[in-house]
Amino acid sequence: MKMNNFAISSLFRPGKPVKSLEFFPPKTGEDTRRLFLAASRLRAFQPDFVSVTYGAGGTTRRFTQEITARLQRELKWLVMPHLTCVGSTRTELRETIQGFVNEGVRNIMTLRGDPPKGSTEFVATENGFRYASDLVAFIKKSFPEICMGVAGYPEKHPEAPSAEDDINHLKFKVDQGADFITTQLFYDNQYYYDYVAKIRAQGIKKAVLPGILPVLNADQVKRFGITLPGKLEAQLTAAGDDKTAQCEIGMDWATEQIAGLLDNGAPGVHLYIMNRSKSALGILDRLKNRGYFPDE
Ligand SMILES: Cc1cc2nc3c(=O)[nH]c(=O)nc-3n(C[C@H](O)[C@H](O)[C@H](O)COP(=O)(O)OP(=O)(O)OC[C@H]3O[C@@H](n4cnc5c(N)ncnc54)[C@H](O)[C@@H]3O)c2cc1C
Repeated sequence: MKMNNFAISSLFRPGKPVKSLEFFPPKTGEDTRRLFLAASRLRAFQPDFVSVTYGAGGTTRRFTQEITARLQRELKWLVMPHLTCVGSTRTELRETIQGFVNEGVRNIMTLRGDPPKGSTEFVATENGFRYASDLVAFIKKSFPEICMGVAGYPEKHPEAPSAEDDINHLKFKVDQGADFITTQLFYDNQYYYDYVAKIRAQGIKKAVLPGILPVLNADQVKRFGITLPGKLEAQLTAAGDDKTAQCEIGMDWATEQIAGLLDNGAPGVHLYIMNRSKSALGILDRLKNRGYFPDE
């Protein structure tokens, strides 16, 4: 077996928290150069795996495959590309998945994707899929060796009529063959704890990897529609436009969140790093100083 070719689900073991990072595919040569500079610095983070998002509008899709291949080849990381149903027929999705498999990919983050900008309703492509669960079932049948991550929403997916409906849909997605869940970002751990309790009550036993984005400013969080705790908002307001202070606040808050999550049994952490290395390394340093993620 190649080093970067095993199922992510096998990483979730008691007492060995997983740390992973998320990149997005850059659009320009200069951004690609920056991404690989950040990636080379992030060797020190020693991620258990990294993931590469899938462009919403179609233009960056082939970059997901290219960046995945390069990160596997050059950094020797276990890389999980994301894949969405947006704008693709089943035949096209099969070709894309086969392309990933040909690159040695063993894990796919399996998603529906967002409706196009300006539209609130997702419309399935003709001969495509309506929900992530349809794509999960398709992959399970056609590529049974693929390990699949799926998305979960501690604050509920915005389109779901209720948290209960959303969790029922998650249950169906898992029953179709998903292997683990990565969450949308959140800044108040209580959302994660309540969410995990509810999904366990529904009989979902898969690992739920919390997604954490070190915050930079309040507007960024509001754009995502995520709750910003009052204490964090007050700290960010006090920092004003001071970028260094904002970054320190983001790293401190994320460190506290991750320490709390690990203390309360989370299987690790997935960091949304926006293709930058500084916060991830700063957070890891802080966590190591407190005894988390000791060197092996
Ligand atoms: C960890 C993570 C990574 C992401 N990566 C990307 C990325 O790389 N590229 C990208 O474009 N987007 C990405 N997204 C965003 C994601 O595509 C959107 O949140 C999208 O709106 C929903 O995708 P999903 O896979 O959760 O969809 P689904 O699981 O299909 O859910 C979508 C909505 O439909 C509802 N639903 C599901 N099944 C049913 C059913 N049978 N009947 C009725 N309603 C149902 C759900 O409750 C939910 O409200 C990511 C999100 C997360 C959390």
